[in-house]
Amino acid sequence: DMLTAKETRESFKAFFASKDHQIVPSAPMVVKGDPTLMFTNAGMNQFKDIILGNVPRKSPRVADSQKCLRVSGKHNDLEEVGHDTYHHTMFEMLGNWSFGDYFKKEAINWAWEYLVDVLKLNPERLYATVFEGSPAEGLERDNEAAGYWEQYLPKDHIINGNKHDNFWEMGDTGPCGPCSEIHIDLRPEEERKVLPGQDMVNKDHPQVIEIWNLVFMQFNRKADASLEPLPAKVIDTGMGFERLCMALQGKTSNYDTDVFQPIIKVIAGMAGTVYGNDKEQDVAMRVIADHIRTIAFAITDGQLPSNAKAGYVIRRILRRAVRYGYTFLGRREAFMYKLLPVLIETMGDAYPELIAQKTLIEKVVKEEEESFLRTLETGIRLLDKKMEDTKAAGTNVLNGVDAFTLYDTYGFPLDLTELILRENGMEVNIDEFNAEMQKQKERARNAAAIETGDWITIKEGESKFVGYDLFECEAEILRYRQIK
Ligand code: ATP
Ligand code: MG
Ligand code: MG
Ligand code: MG
Repeated sequence: DMLTAKETRESFKAFFASKDHQIVPSAPMVVKGDPTLMFTNAGMNQFKDIILGNVPRKSPRVADSQKCLRVSGKHNDLEEVGHDTYHHTMFEMLGNWSFGDYFKKEAINWAWEYLVDVLKLNPERLYATVFEGSPAEGLERDNEAAGYWEQYLPKDHIINGNKHDNFWEMGDTGPCGPCSEIHIDLRPEEERKVLPGQDMVNKDHPQVIEIWNLVFMQFNRKADASLEPLPAKVIDTGMGFERLCMALQGKTSNYDTDVFQPIIKVIAGMAGTVYGNDKEQDVAMRVIADHIRTIAFAITDGQLPSNAKAGYVIRRILRRAVRYGYTFLGRREAFMYKLLPVLIETMGDAYPELIAQKTLIEKVVKEEEESFLRTLETGIRLLDKKMEDTKAAGTNVLNGVDAFTLYDTYGFPLDLTELILRENGMEVNIDEFNAEMQKQKERARNAAAIETGDWITIKEGESKFVGYDLFECEAEILRYRQIK
């Protein structure tokens, strides 16, 4: 019978426990004290120091399900979320690791055994990618991995991939190596026959997607960019839990699984509608169902929404969700906080921290929602008017001064303004926006220069000194733009 999400998560852990892996808890999604990373974005993050040899391994084989967030830095999937069916902001990554223990052979054999023998996925739907090599660096094709895949897959289901997709590096220096991704073709039988697999892997069709990435760290990249063999080779794998559930439950969208459907039903109920009726409403429901998970887990793991850094990332996500609810589902009052019970129903077993923090999460989310809703309507009206004026003036580019007013006075994060503009076929003048931000920064700096040395008592209702926060927040926006 069909596995539920809960059973799927458990079966992964049980499988790797049966292969002598120690099952470890997820690290917090919020990363504190690492200047290079705000949020956990992959299962391997918590093992970085073991992999680098900075701390001894506790166990040579571990496996887990890791809470991940991909909304900033190297991985930013935010724009995809709600529009495609398989990228989330927060998702769970199932993973198994070998620290100087087993290597490619076992990693590939066990991945296959788990997907095909245990979970009974149809092997005809599976593909594996292997590193094609990089002659410039003297790197050969990963024939070793290909050889193991050939035990199971016909040659036309083993696909070469380039350095970008199939060679993983921790950074400019350090552990690195080829990887093999497993992709699954979820298209209906007839379509699969019409379009053979060769060009379909992950690039051309939303139902042919990557589910599992097996990284084989076998080199160490030195400061002069040369490669030497890594003394203790490392296996690092990551499988998208929600995607696996989709495949197992015979769905074509992660949102149609029991990971998301209970939450979506509650959202639809609140809005007096049903999921699957209206394109825009469906996007909004998917976005909200996705974002509430991110916000709840961020708060649980110690990151409250705020004006700076990681806190501003969370605030942006919350405001994005609130605005989707406002515009497409008619939500005029706080509603996100009411999703906590159903979220706990679906995820509380696996992540009891959610239950423990329920009251705090509800309180913070409700306050955040209410505070944004106070200016949202005026802000949207202003933006509508400005969009009209802009178009009337014969351009699709909103000036940065207006975008800055929306940001500064109405609490519209830049990416929210951009999103609304995009929905209307418009964009913003970023340089102007940044110039306004720069001016604001200087004003704050001048104010700070005058005020240092004195205590400033802020009474309720008075505006706060926000100089420091604004620097931080600007840095985040600029970084965000570079990455996009
Ligand atoms: P994709 O190419 O689909 O964006 P990726 O190559 O960026 O995935 P990896 O860094 O290899 O992903 O992460 C390992 C696995 O985590 C992927 O194979 C995929 O199943 C899953 N995954 C990655 N990003 C997301 C996301 N935003 N939402 C849900 N699952 C994800
Ligand atoms: Mg990606
Ligand atoms: Mg990929
Ligand atoms: Mg990948």
